[in-house]
Amino acid sequence: MVKKCLYCSCELNESSVIEFCRKCGVGVFGEKMLNAIVTNMEEAREKGDLCHQTDPFQ
Ligand SMILES: [Zn+2]
Repeated sequence: MVKKCLYCSCELNESSVIEFCRKCGVGVFGEKMLNAIVTNMEEAREKGDLCHQTDPFQ
């Protein structure tokens, strides 16, 4: 299934952690806030992944 932006319905990168495109994200949250959101989401996803997968570094 193709992931689409909540606001403008453009197609998103499948690996995107947010439900909207960068352009809309900046418009809604501002660039600084958007960067913080993306960073938090990526960290949360990495932690979530580690709960389900074997640590690749061991
Ligand atoms: Zn958009």
